[in-house]
Amino acid sequence: MNYCSHCGAGLLLRKPDGDERLRHVCDQCGLVHYQNPKIIAGCIPVWENSILLCKRAIEPRYGTWTLPAGFMELGETLEAAARRESWEEARTHLAVEGLFAIFNVPHISQVHVYFRARLLDHQFGAGVESLETRLFREHEIPWADISFQTVSHCLRLYLEDHRNRDFRLHIHDIVPDAA
Ligand SMILES: [Zn+2]
Repeated sequence: MNYCSHCGAGLLLRKPDGDERLRHVCDQCGLVHYQNPKIIAGCIPVWENSILLCKRAIEPRYGTWTLPAGFMELGETLEAAARRESWEEARTHLAVEGLFAIFNVPHISQVHVYFRARLLDHQFGAGVESLETRLFREHEIPWADISFQTVSHCLRLYLEDHRNRDFRLHIHDIVPDAA
């Protein structure tokens, strides 16, 4: 961040009075430009015993499989964001069910929130951010080609709870892969 979005002056990185952290501060208009974590909303779309995954048509991780998820928009609720991402990426309409997982990802300042969801009908397809969408049964999930650590973690937790017929809320901290 180089310039003030309010007055256009150059920004300085310094601690404002009474603050413990470095902030981007505008000395011309006095505005402090706080930066805060971003929220990613997604879901686990289920049809009978299968999970709908999307093959990414965008970087990062082009060509790998993921759950529909993305950055919340201003003025949106979490559930609406999860439904919108499912429409944009997988051209499917969902009934959003329980809150399933919250992943803190502090090394990239993000929080990922996943809901369980059911396809309302057997309609789905590739949105502009996807090359392909497909239903996977448990033994078909392409574990080596899952896009992100949070997604594979979410899928493993879901399948475990599904086997136990007991869906719980999972709150985990994600640390970078050693690999
Ligand atoms: Zn300013």
